[in-house]
Amino acid sequence: MRIVFVGPPGAGKGTQSQRLVERLAIAHLSTGDMLREARQKQTKVGRLAEEYMAAGKLVPDELVLALVGERITSPDCARGVLFDGFPRNVKQAEELDAMLAERRMAIDMALELAVDDEEVIRRLAGRGRPDDEPRVVAERLKTYWGQTRPLLDYYRGRGILETVRGDGTIDQVFARVLKAVDKRAGRGGARGSE
Ligand code: ADP
Repeated sequence: MRIVFVGPPGAGKGTQSQRLVERLAIAHLSTGDMLREARQKQTKVGRLAEEYMAAGKLVPDELVLALVGERITSPDCARGVLFDGFPRNVKQAEELDAMLAERRMAIDMALELAVDDEEVIRRLAGRGRPDDEPRVVAERLKTYWGQTRPLLDYYRGRGILETVRGDGTIDQVFARVLKAVDKRAGRGGARGSE
């Protein structure tokens, strides 16, 4: 199964992703993690991405798409992939669809983790990542609303969007996530290319 996970920063995508990839035995592709690793290793992509990440803005599509393109051909992605934090705008979604179509694959479901802005700000305040300072958080939220949220319409239009609420305990949220995945899998998503 190939799933796109969409939600504002601080929605808890990372935590839920870890559980979900374990449960479904699929690969976890987090562009945020990949970019942080590239930055830490000071690769060319990492150095180019740095200033965008620090400002809470999207890293240019070409850089992110190159990273993803490389990764989805690796064997661990054959059984399925959870795309976490990618795509983040409609252009990236279209490019992902094209990359998958070349391999006769498709996204089976888009999973929205819905959390409101006040909750996001409250949660990120306690986390302490360098891009979690209030000014950058505000910018990341603006980026989310302006560029990433339109993706929900993109996937809704394809009839593959499921929304779950991100409030409550980790277990409560995970139960909702599994229910949404089961519902989608029941419609053929788990079989692959529908
Ligand atoms: P969060 O979901 O908490 O914002 P991520 O780890 O997904 O955190 O992303 C951190 C930063 O990395 C983003 O603010 C952005 O600068 C960059 N980034 C991650 N994924 C993408 C992407 N798909 N396209 C562009 N930039 C990205």
